Amino acid sequence: MPNFEKLNNPSNGEVITFKNGKPIIPNNPIVPFIRGDGTGVDIWPATRRVIDASIQKSYGDKRKINWFKVYAGDEACDIYGTYNYLPNDTIEAIKHYGVAIKGPLTTPVGGGIRSLNVALRQIFDLYSCVRPCKYYSGTPSPHKSPQNLDIIVYRENTEDIYMGIEWEAEDENCKSLINYLNNTIIPNSSKLKNRSLPLSAGIGIKPVSKFGSQRHIRKAIEHAKRLSGSKRHVTLVHKGNIMKFTEGAFRDWGYELAINEFRNDCITERESWILDNIERNQNISVENNAKLIEPGFDKLTAEKRHSICGEIKDIILNIADSHGNNKWKKLVLIDDRIADSIFQQIQTRPQEYSILATLNLNGDYLSDAAAAIVGGLGMAPGANIGDKAAIFEATHGTAPKHAGLNKINPGSVILSGVMMLEYFGWDEAADLITKGISKSIEQKKVTYDLARLMDPKVDPLLCSEFAESIINNF
Ligand code: NAP
Repeated sequence: MPNFEKLNNPSNGEVITFKNGKPIIPNNPIVPFIRGDGTGVDIWPATRRVIDASIQKSYGDKRKINWFKVYAGDEACDIYGTYNYLPNDTIEAIKHYGVAIKGPLTTPVGGGIRSLNVALRQIFDLYSCVRPCKYYSGTPSPHKSPQNLDIIVYRENTEDIYMGIEWEAEDENCKSLINYLNNTIIPNSSKLKNRSLPLSAGIGIKPVSKFGSQRHIRKAIEHAKRLSGSKRHVTLVHKGNIMKFTEGAFRDWGYELAINEFRNDCITERESWILDNIERNQNISVENNAKLIEPGFDKLTAEKRHSICGEIKDIILNIADSHGNNKWKKLVLIDDRIADSIFQQIQTRPQEYSILATLNLNGDYLSDAAAAIVGGLGMAPGANIGDKAAIFEATHGTAPKHAGLNKINPGSVILSGVMMLEYFGWDEAADLITKGISKSIEQKKVTYDLARLMDPKVDPLLCSEFAESIINNF
């Protein structure tokens, strides 16, 4: 048990432990919570009431969360001293108790730490950021058919340009790095020979590793396995047509993982085309199959034609029995889409997608764009998941101008609580909250942000009244 400077370990409840990256949840887990800055003072009490009520209604006295208050952000500075935005006590508490939930935190200015949210992700190696975007009937949306969007963005959380390894233009280290690249590295590369970087440029590094990509995509595939029907689908989102060795590698490592580690559970989009074609055109030669699958087959080089025929033979030999005969339709479909195309497709054909596995930056943009379609930040939950810890959080910020007014929408943190309950396997409680939120919105009992967008406009509920309305609709 940790020795805290200013906290006391809770006297009731049990510790959540982890085995092979999966949590083992007792019936009375201790869960540290960070109230959050700004509107956290309004959102957290509303969230806690809703979560506790859902557990009580679902399980009576058999299950209970023992909340453990820990500090981060402005509140931490008040207790632990100036610039102590993330005290050691808080880090030790989350390390020991494993799963935490947090409200929004102010990004510190003037000292201490660059971003609390990024720091928490890095300290606990929370490598997958999970953001579901699903429409609740009645929510005002700028989109014509927001109900068609029901996706989960799995955003890699630890690598990519977000690592923050960058140098400012004109900085001496930046200039010497550019000189080294221009004079030594680039001339030695046959592909880059004639290129050079402008001496006045700033530089950012974009690392993408096989380990980091695959552990993240593994979580996305495991999630898809728990879904049913067409939702058993993972799309690898990338810009590999341009950034071949980072974004393109992410896609390739994803496919490699799917067919090596999840062979019995997965089918790639290309394999599904080939199997489908083989089944529809029984008893024709491999070469004729290839002609049907690959447009312009006859015009391809002999080497390419040979490779496609080899691919078809491999499929017939290795997976036709296990995956063919339409069995592949029940497996997790793995496909990939270029990032700019997926931005269009979540608007034009959202029903075709389920889990989008992305790198860090693409996922950041994509999850906000998807959240906008289903009703904005007030309704967008998030979770950061690793192998030894998980933190559930609001995706919006502290909205300081609304702080303490009891008017803000607590939906994002409440829905993060739903994700936490699902992570616990406490699905009955999670479903109650989802139902309560849906019904409350249908009854137009909503906070100001949604009320002002409704047509005709409705009188808004306070933050605490919205929580009450959700509970009344269980
Ligand atoms: P923000 O706090 O997200 O607020 C921007 C606007 O979004 C608000 O003024 C409000 O719009 C709307 N909004 C935010 N939360 C809402 C909610 N729960 N319900 C309804 N509407 C909501 O963004 P910011 O003002 O740029 O950032 C403030 C601070 O939060 C900064 O220090 C920032 O770094 C930090 N931040 C923290 C997190 C995090 O902890 N995960 C994330 C983002 C930003 P209207 O006023 O128009 O209604």
